[in-house]
Amino acid sequence: MGKIVRALTEDGAVVVLAADTTDIAETARAIHGASKVCTAALGRLLTGASLMGYMLKNKEDSVTVRVNGSGETGSLIAVSDSKGNVRGYMMDPHVEIPLKPNGKLDVGGAVGREGSLTVIKDLGLKEPMVGQVPLVSGEIAEDLTSYFAVSEQIPTVCSLGVQVDTEGRVAKAGGFLIQLLPTSDDTVIAKVENGLKNVPPVTAMLREGLSPLEICKRALPEFHPEELDCGDIAYCCDCSRRRVERALISAGLDALSEMAQDAVTEVRCHFCPAVYRFTADEIRALIEEAK
Ligand code: ZN
Repeated sequence: MGKIVRALTEDGAVVVLAADTTDIAETARAIHGASKVCTAALGRLLTGASLMGYMLKNKEDSVTVRVNGSGETGSLIAVSDSKGNVRGYMMDPHVEIPLKPNGKLDVGGAVGREGSLTVIKDLGLKEPMVGQVPLVSGEIAEDLTSYFAVSEQIPTVCSLGVQVDTEGRVAKAGGFLIQLLPTSDDTVIAKVENGLKNVPPVTAMLREGLSPLEICKRALPEFHPEELDCGDIAYCCDCSRRRVERALISAGLDALSEMAQDAVTEVRCHFCPAVYRFTADEIRALIEEAK
């Protein structure tokens, strides 16, 4: 089980969220059989999406973050509900590329340094809110920071980390997100930036045993953030047979007729290990529904 917390400075000028997503990133790795660098990439995106999801106002809201990079992994997608529970997948989770000269996993190299990051917020309105920015580095945290600055005009600091052990499993994963009011003056911005100079990587803070709230405090040493709310978070998929049926119906009559030729049609969920099987008769029933 992961943990997420949101805290606010006394004057309300700075909000900070932090999450321990170790279990989430490890579950994603296990589900997708991801390589080390792909585990890091997907783990970071899941963490970012969870932090963004937790900022949503209404219970039914959700956020989807999609990265379309020029790298070998192809697109990555993470979806979070408003409690910070996430799911995600990537086109090719098996990509392996050499480490960076500093010995770190080359997430930007695998994802691609060119491309786009798209955020889709479903806020229960007629149309979802969509924002898109070009990738900055493909390292995910910088790309999300750019999204907030460009698309939402909110000064934001985002730090995401996934530490993978020698076996390829997730040892630690987490992140924090600092947001300033759009009206923040330069002294507040300078204080935040100054404080960040000595903040260790998130995975180092988790290794030290810091809780998400302690990470919030460490990330803002010149402020006194106080907890607003916190919760447990997990990797979870909300797929169901009915949802798959609706997706099949929306694929159209031609596609369904083709499926009805096969004795059994298998549909695999992208996000979790679930497999849904439909007999030709069941497909024909969907054709009737689609008409
Ligand atoms: Zn699923």
